[in-house]
Order: sequence, then C-alpha cells, then structure tokens
Amino acid sequence: MSDFFSVDTLYVNYGEAEALHGISLASDRGKITTIIGANGAGKTTLVNTISGILKPKSGTITLNGTDISRVPAHQVCDYGVAIVPEGRRLFSKLSVLDNLKMGAYPPHARDKERSTLTFVQELFPRLAERRSQMAGTLSGGEQQMLALGRALMAQPSLLLLDEPSLGLAPIIVKNIFNVIQTINAETNLTILLVEQNANLALQIADYAYVIADGHIVNQGEPSVLSADDSIKKAYLGLEH
Ligand code: ATP
Repeated sequence: MSDFFSVDTLYVNYGEAEALHGISLASDRGKITTIIGANGAGKTTLVNTISGILKPKSGTITLNGTDISRVPAHQVCDYGVAIVPEGRRLFSKLSVLDNLKMGAYPPHARDKERSTLTFVQELFPRLAERRSQMAGTLSGGEQQMLALGRALMAQPSLLLLDEPSLGLAPIIVKNIFNVIQTINAETNLTILLVEQNANLALQIADYAYVIADGHIVNQGEPSVLSADDSIKKAYLGLEH
C-alpha cells in the first residue's frame, strides 16, 4: 500500500526551536486534503517544508514514490509540486498572460504550454479577458485566480494551496473554492489545501487534518470533524 502523497514523522526547526513535532499525513491520488489550524499552528512551516524552502530536521515527504523532502525550492516544481503561496506572489509588473506563461517553466509543462493555457483561460474567463492587464492592477480575487492559473500551468501532480481565502471577501472565497473543486473534478489533480477558513475547507475536502502547536491533533472525514463540538468551537466559530 502506498499513498500518492505522504508526510512521515516530519520534524522542522527554526534554529534551536522546534516548530513541527513529527507531523504525518497522507493523500490518495486525486483527493482534496485539507489541513486546518489557527494562527501560529505550523501551517506555513509545513507548506514551506513541502516547497523546499525549509529543510526538515528529520522525516520524509514522498510524492508518487519519490522522496522530495530535500529537493530545493527551485527544483520542487520539476518533481510535480506547484504552490499557490500565501499572498499570491505574482509578478505585479507583468501582464496576466506573462504571469501564466512564467508558470510553465518545468520541462514537462513547456511542451504542453498552449493546451494548458487554453484550459486555464477556459477555467478563468476573467483572466482571458484581462490577459494584457498588469497583474498588480487586478482585484484581490482575480489575483488569487491568476496565482491558481499560474500554478496549473506547471502541470503539477500536487497542487499546494496556502490559505487561498486570506484577505478576500466571503463571496470571492466561495468562488475560489468552487473553482478548486472544479479543477479537482476535471483534472483529478491531488490538492493539499492549507486553511484557517475551516468552514469552507471542510465543505470541499475529502479528508481533513487539524494542526495545532506543530502537531496533528485530529483527523478524519470532513463531515465527522464538522460535527465535532471541539472543532466547531475552535475552528468553525460556532458554539454548540
Ligand atoms: P499563520 O496562519 O499565522 O501564518 P501558521 O499556522 O502558518 O500561522 P507558522 O508560521 O508555521 O504558523 O508558525 C509555526 C511556529 O513557528 C510559530 O510558533 C512561529 O512563531 C514559529 N516560526 C515561524 N516562522 C519562524 C521563523 N522564521 N523563525 C522562528 N520561528 C518561526
């Protein structure tokens, strides 16, 4: 039995301070897995370690049978990981189209650039309409769409989304989450969704993990977690 994507007993330090204390999680191919947690829980540390920005002290990260735990950030894309980072990090002075094209830099993506671009523009008609506009002048929601589109241009096998809802109005967030679901349904892409907005994340995920203080403290089917009183209180903003 092997999972398509897994994190096994991951320890990550900042200097002497340990931030992740033996995190393990897994996803089958084509599933949406969410990791929910409050501020400071360790979400960004986990994302940055999967992205190759941080090196784990120990533990492994495996994608489709390959250990990617020590692949540097500039190469992780070649291994099939595309990241939509917190804060989008677009090339604000470049056009929408140029931002999308920049996403297609892994060799396996370059060959399919034209067809992927057509797919992305169909998925996000607004980006197609605004293809010549400078990315920095897009609305927050449009910028998030562009960051998603750019990640898809890399033809990833794992799409890592770091708090895509951050700073966006609820209606826009709903829209983004609908698109994430559509991407998953149409491409069977494996998606890791790291979110503080547990409410929506649990609605679209196939499986969920709860991270707190650098530990996985709960996991299960989203419907089960959503009904759990302690989860409701801590992450869904609901009193029972
Ligand atoms: P948020 O949602 O607020 O971004 P988070 O869940 O992403 O929070 P992390 O940013 O991963 O949490 O932080 C996890 C822990 O690691 C926190 O205790 C934080 O203070 C610590 N930490 C994060 N970045 C650094 C750093 N560069 N140096 C030292 N400690 C850090």
